[in-house]
Amino acid sequence: MPPPPRRPVTEWEAVALAALASCVFVPATPQKRFAREMRDATEITEKQAEWLRVLVHRYRRQIPRVCQCPTCSAGVGVAPRHSGNP
Ligand SMILES: [Zn+2]
Repeated sequence: MPPPPRRPVTEWEAVALAALASCVFVPATPQKRFAREMRDATEITEKQAEWLRVLVHRYRRQIPRVCQCPTCSAGVGVAPRHSGNP
């Protein structure tokens, strides 16, 4: 099987990867390895991008205001946001 195609990380993904790298993880877990290995990534696969969104949401308490999923954008479970973001 050919390697999965990579594309450049988006601006948000770069922010999210940097934020995730600052999180405290349970040692020797796949997410800790992912955060460490992807910290300075400039390219990403769709699968990695998907996992990044999952992890950013899961660790949202350590990295407030990074997650942009519908739940967090609606201010559910995190500090309320009243910005005028589209
Ligand atoms: Zn979220």
